[in-house]
Amino acid sequence: MHQTTASTCCYCGVGCGVLIEHDGTRIHNVKGDPDHPANFGKLCSKGSTLHLTGDIAARGLYPELRLGKGLARARIDWDNALDHVADRFAEAIREHGPDSVAFYISGQLLTEDYYAFNKLARALVGTNNIDSNSRLCMSSAVVGYKRSLGADAPPCSYEDIELSDCLLIVGSNMAYAHPVLFRRLEEAKARRPEMRVIVVDPRRTDTCDLADLHLAIQPGSDVALFHGLMHILLWEGWVDRTFIDAHTEGFEALKALVRDYNPAMVSELCAIPVEALQQCARLIGNAPSFLSLWCMGLNQSTAGSAKNSALINLHLATGQIGRPGAGPFSLTGQPNAMGGRETGSLSNLLPGHREAGNPEHRKEVAAYWGVEQLPETPGLHAIDLFEKVRAGKIKALWIACTNPAQSVPDQRGVHEALATCPFVVVQEAFFTTETCRYADLLLPAASWGEKEGSVTNSERRVSRVRSAVPAPGEARADWSITCDFARRLEIRLHPEQPSRFDYQRPDQLFDEYKALTRGRDLDLTGLNYALIERIGPQQWPFPDGSVTGTTRLYANRVFPTANGRARFIAEHYQAPRERREARYPLTLNTGRLRDQWHGMSRTGTAAQLFGHVEEALLGLHPDDMRRRRLLEGQLVRLRSRRGSLILPVTRDDTLQPGQAFLPMHWGDRFLKGLGCNVLTLPDHDPLSKQPELKHAAIEVEQV
Ligand code: SF4
Repeated sequence: MHQTTASTCCYCGVGCGVLIEHDGTRIHNVKGDPDHPANFGKLCSKGSTLHLTGDIAARGLYPELRLGKGLARARIDWDNALDHVADRFAEAIREHGPDSVAFYISGQLLTEDYYAFNKLARALVGTNNIDSNSRLCMSSAVVGYKRSLGADAPPCSYEDIELSDCLLIVGSNMAYAHPVLFRRLEEAKARRPEMRVIVVDPRRTDTCDLADLHLAIQPGSDVALFHGLMHILLWEGWVDRTFIDAHTEGFEALKALVRDYNPAMVSELCAIPVEALQQCARLIGNAPSFLSLWCMGLNQSTAGSAKNSALINLHLATGQIGRPGAGPFSLTGQPNAMGGRETGSLSNLLPGHREAGNPEHRKEVAAYWGVEQLPETPGLHAIDLFEKVRAGKIKALWIACTNPAQSVPDQRGVHEALATCPFVVVQEAFFTTETCRYADLLLPAASWGEKEGSVTNSERRVSRVRSAVPAPGEARADWSITCDFARRLEIRLHPEQPSRFDYQRPDQLFDEYKALTRGRDLDLTGLNYALIERIGPQQWPFPDGSVTGTTRLYANRVFPTANGRARFIAEHYQAPRERREARYPLTLNTGRLRDQWHGMSRTGTAAQLFGHVEEALLGLHPDDMRRRRLLEGQLVRLRSRRGSLILPVTRDDTLQPGQAFLPMHWGDRFLKGLGCNVLTLPDHDPLSKQPELKHAAIEVEQV
């Protein structure tokens, strides 16, 4: 019988509503949900082909275990699989302490899954060694929001994109990475051609087609650009002194710092004309409303936190925040990186936007979970985690719904770490990923269309994810695997205690989690599954008694800092960590294509998603091709200080001379050698710990 189930797309942070058409056993089609406020029925090429991507041959159907590194894995039943892993974790915890185990999870998990993992790691195991791939994605934005505004809360809504008079898009190829939002912007600009769009990107991407002004800055020079803009805004008197005096602090220090960033100096540093810099400042300074959108170009950097704060400075100086069409607005990479941040799924966080390093916060959460205390020792962030695994410090590692063997930088080191870790569990829907190869125990997880829960998109909107068909084979929902394991570990570690993981349904996890948000900036206490069913997806905060969500934060000009004021952050520009030099004269940038997603475990199963780009190609400027006597399609070797990779080269005149671009999607299942992250460096931002995935020095030579 034909049925339709409303759910949410599982790819990017736009969080589009989808209608799944199915017969209860098979998904036949996917359409945009006209009632969902993120997309009003629109879908991009990835969302509209979701029903073509569930290739059963790629799916994990049964748990598989191997009892030694050199042995083949064999099918095992769930009870024995989970008992085995509980034994191994309990043994490691007893012999080496709770910090000898670690969890590496994912921005693609649902909020309920995240919460279960957090409670497991912190309350049961007693470790903060739980980090997620959001570390590679949004952690610099988290620091930016918290430092400047007091809480990790994107203040804007998608409707602000349509209402704004001036949009600054920085380090984001929105046309590819957030296509439905970009379509909303295109339509808004068609309706209001006077709207001004500025794109800052070293590449002339498809997003630039909509730009009134494109600033092709030198890679990594964003902080210098923002300070240069601030310098001009001050010089011209285009700042809002009333707002600055009444609602901010730290402006004088910033003013003193940006004095040095005069137009001539910034023009040289960023390699853009002075006139373009001045034009950009004029557009921002005179716009009735000014909105900025950014993504990985700012976040994935050794100066990611400084870049985020320097951009937010522009909003605070002009008072462009907390009103329609205005504010700093990060575009989330993954479908539920927001939910991860909310539930505490970075090693330094706790549920409800709390800090693991804050004794009061630990006390609050410990009391709620009914444990004596939560661990104090700082947890490992993604990059350190795999280094510690490689150093033999982690005896048991649990990886869920992510593929670090492809996505974490300095990939060779990660492969070494996974190969030598005494016990690796991988919980995954697709058993084809590079990481699965290293699993001692593989646990098949339910995937999109097969599981229930919730996600939060870039505009703080909580949507439901619903199940339409049963998971194949014996695959199970992530939260259910985690809680089943936790119950078995409880018996081994604390046999005298009643279980804290006795959940039968995901809404029980949601309801328990939301109570931890009471009184916090993201208060969700008024939301539940039944209410979302009735009134649709809602934006937080949504405290008890609310009738509707919150469209825009800080409309009252009060910020969640100790004194209610937002803070200017004054930090100098720092060049990217790895400089170009004679042996490595090109700058490598990595990023997304329009029709692929992450490591292609899902999109790689749909033939039509290869229609846009068929294979991994290194893009080089025609001058750099000519200088190296390279022909279109010729195989080249890319070398960085960390590794090399062979693949075909293509002319790309959207790049500037001296720059190279490589899509992030293809791993060693497709390439001669590991993926693009064999070339990238593990150096990371000192505060956010987010690695520099957008800037590595390389050389390219004929094979
Ligand atoms: Fe899915 Fe993002 Fe495309 Fe929307 S824009 S359909 S959320 S991939």
